[in-house]
Amino acid sequence: MERYNSIIVGSGISGLTLALLLAANGRKVLLLEKAPIIGGCLSRFYKKGVPFDTGFHFTGGFVKNRIMEDMLRVLGIRDSIHPILLDKERSNRFIFENEGLSLEMPAGLEQCCAKLENYFPAQRVAIRNYFEMVERVIQSTPSFDLRKISFSPEPIEEDYISLQKVLDSLTQNQTLKAALSVYCMCYGTKPSEISFANHARVSIGFYDCLTRIKDGGEAFIRAFSQAFKNYPIMIRCNTTIQECLDIHDGIVGRVLLSDGEEVAFDECIFTIHPFEVLKIIPKQHFSKAFWERVESFEPSNGFFSVFGAIEGEKVADNFEPSIVSLLPHSDINILLDPKYIGPQALAIFQSLECAKDKTFHVLNAFEPSFFEQVAPWSNSKVGHRPQGYTDYKKQRVQSICNRIQGFFPEYKDSFRMYDAASMLTFRDYLFSPDGSAYGIKQKVGQFNLFGKLPLRNLYTAGQSAVLPGILGAMLSSFVIARALVDKDAYNNFINKSLCP
Ligand SMILES: Cc1cc2nc3c(=O)[nH]c(=O)nc-3n(C[C@H](O)[C@H](O)[C@H](O)COP(=O)(O)OP(=O)(O)OC[C@H]3O[C@@H](n4cnc5c(N)ncnc54)[C@H](O)[C@@H]3O)c2cc1C
Repeated sequence: MERYNSIIVGSGISGLTLALLLAANGRKVLLLEKAPIIGGCLSRFYKKGVPFDTGFHFTGGFVKNRIMEDMLRVLGIRDSIHPILLDKERSNRFIFENEGLSLEMPAGLEQCCAKLENYFPAQRVAIRNYFEMVERVIQSTPSFDLRKISFSPEPIEEDYISLQKVLDSLTQNQTLKAALSVYCMCYGTKPSEISFANHARVSIGFYDCLTRIKDGGEAFIRAFSQAFKNYPIMIRCNTTIQECLDIHDGIVGRVLLSDGEEVAFDECIFTIHPFEVLKIIPKQHFSKAFWERVESFEPSNGFFSVFGAIEGEKVADNFEPSIVSLLPHSDINILLDPKYIGPQALAIFQSLECAKDKTFHVLNAFEPSFFEQVAPWSNSKVGHRPQGYTDYKKQRVQSICNRIQGFFPEYKDSFRMYDAASMLTFRDYLFSPDGSAYGIKQKVGQFNLFGKLPLRNLYTAGQSAVLPGILGAMLSSFVIARALVDKDAYNNFINKSLCP
């Protein structure tokens, strides 16, 4: 029987990060992926030669000494990732449709603060206080310095208070509150539910500078695949764990894989959705309270997505990579509420993408969506959806296309829709239980599923563990690796890649 030091379940960015960290620190790794290809939410798809991003679209933190930059350096793949900074005028705009108000968000924390002070001169103190609090959270978050990460960092005061409470204490101006919480859409938890600290930790990269990556998530997949060649990492796609075997004294000795093979291991780390973890681990070894805690997690929102491109000869002149968020009103709590049935927010991303020496003017649009909206067809699978679903999809595509062309009248004749995806599409392609974009909602005071499970050589990491998005998913893997690798060796490994 083959024996591995580490089995990693799931090959999204957290699984890839963990595989590389553990292998670079001497472990023999088996990476299991249920889908036919690796990458999870990083993957791209192509329609008529045009590349589209499935999940991951943009990030931040490509600033000296910020965590994203540091993580890529330690992994040795920074030089393979080419950031495209959205730092031009009008690169990042919030449009409050009911007020006819357009806010431009520049790059840089100080610049965002100054710009908002310009828009809301009567709210200067509130705005300054908000950005000072964000900066303070980042300074006092130990895991944002890779040299200091640990399993159970001391929580800070802002971990216990919701973003909403902080905003309410700073200002009565509803539009300003919305402007300061638009990034909740980038992690799928309402301002009333997320802690101020986690909102700050996710948003800081966006305040620094919204950043696309050349070739999208595929660039990460390529970089990891290249780096894997130097290490003993075995990848098996179309494969998962069917059963845990040989359990003694709280330790699992072997697993039966879905292809019928049995493998032995020292530790196994799940980087998949917590509900998917529950399907694999043997129930009798866990308490009722543990089970109920995990089952009580709520999904973050997903997206209804339209994938398209601008075509024709006149396009290139004004086309710049950008993001515009259309907000029908200024209550983000309502816009992220599954029961809300009014007009949704819409994020429109424009980017220049290359494939086979051709450049495409890609325009994708994302409306927050909730599983409730597709629940009537939840038993159907890709390629076999009922008419009701097809009608729902058609109607939603039409409405999004109308909004795109309403906002960009210059694209009236040149926007071409290539594909669309509902939460069911995301569920079925990404092997997530509910098609949510960011795993579970990370609510203030919630105890996520992270780290060691009651079976002591099983661990969990991933986007639902510490922070959502690719940054949070990677960070969770750095923390787990630190727990598994000899402490001094890991410190040396990290320090040798980081600036003093
Ligand atoms: C539409 C959309 C837009 C997004 N936009 C952004 C963005 O702009 N910026 C950002 O930072 N984040 C964004 N995200 C979120 C981001 O993509 C995720 O937070 C991150 O990529 C998750 O990484 P992960 O490794 O934790 O999980 P995943 O990428 O979901 O990887 C999990 C992997 O595990 C596999 N798997 C599942 N079950 C099993 C099993 N039983 N056995 C084996 N393998 C299994 C899956 O197939 C998948 O490959 C977006 C997500 C979506 C869906």
